[in-house]
Amino acid sequence: MPSNAWQIGALYPPGGRNGIAWSQPAGVGTQVFPAPVTGTAYFTTTPFSELSGVFRPGCGHSVNEPLIQREYDYTTSSSVALCCCPECGYVQYTIEPFEDALSTVMQPQLPL
Ligand SMILES: [Zn+2]
Repeated sequence: MPSNAWQIGALYPPGGRNGIAWSQPAGVGTQVFPAPVTGTAYFTTTPFSELSGVFRPGCGHSVNEPLIQREYDYTTSSSVALCCCPECGYVQYTIEPFEDALSTVMQPQLPL
């Protein structure tokens, strides 16, 4: 039986998204780098902080909505919705079966 290509706390697809060389030096479930810019930068036009999103998944990025990716869970033989960081692809949590993630009855809101 094949094993799952995804894991909660890891990047999906493996290596991450958007063509950026993401790294997770402390392992699965920990902060992902490059990290958001924080701190103060006086006398410049750059933002003070990129931490302006609604949600902060475990990767540490600051985002406004989850990215939902469809995969298959071989341990439960079910489709699965991977609720991910849209920047790096960090899998925050899953919903099974996948269709429940699209249902306004099962998931009236999809937080991250
Ligand atoms: Zn992220």
